[in-house]
Amino acid sequence: MNRIVESNKIKKMPKGCWLWLGSLNVKGYGQYRYKKNGKFTTMQLHRRVWMEERGPIPKGLVVAHHCDVRNCVNPEHLYVGTQAQNCQDVFDRKRRPLQSETQTHCLKGHEFTPENTGVRDPKKEDGGKRYCKACKKIRNDKYRSTPEGRARINARIKAWRKKKAISPSGKNNHI
Ligand SMILES: [Zn+2]
Ligand SMILES: [Zn+2]
Repeated sequence: MNRIVESNKIKKMPKGCWLWLGSLNVKGYGQYRYKKNGKFTTMQLHRRVWMEERGPIPKGLVVAHHCDVRNCVNPEHLYVGTQAQNCQDVFDRKRRPLQSETQTHCLKGHEFTPENTGVRDPKKEDGGKRYCKACKKIRNDKYRSTPEGRARINARIKAWRKKKAISPSGKNNHI
């Protein structure tokens, strides 16, 4: 069987992370699909990488990332520890932005291309947070398809038109 670390679905980043470009689960971890007792099932890819490169995972321990990049499969960035250790680790790293710049895909697996990347609060000290435009559009479309969503949007448009009618100078105010 081919080793995952030799897969062509890996993008090696200058900072050392090996990003998995294949399928991700909802939490943003790489997904490994395999057959067990004749049925397809999945496991987290970085666990699989650990087993291939380092051996079995001791019972009760989790495989965690030093780098905090969930779809990273660089064995050097992985370690086994207890769930408690992992939580402490995540806690220690809380000050760092969660979406590091090395993350190439959103949690749903859309790529963070320049066109697909929006920034929330860009004036904030940490440069704001990235968000996925494709996901935002899906959420908006869903919202628009509900009666109350439509009603609210219409109300907002109405209010905006009214405001514009009151202050016609608003026309030239766009920055
Ligand atoms: Zn990494
Ligand atoms: Zn997305």
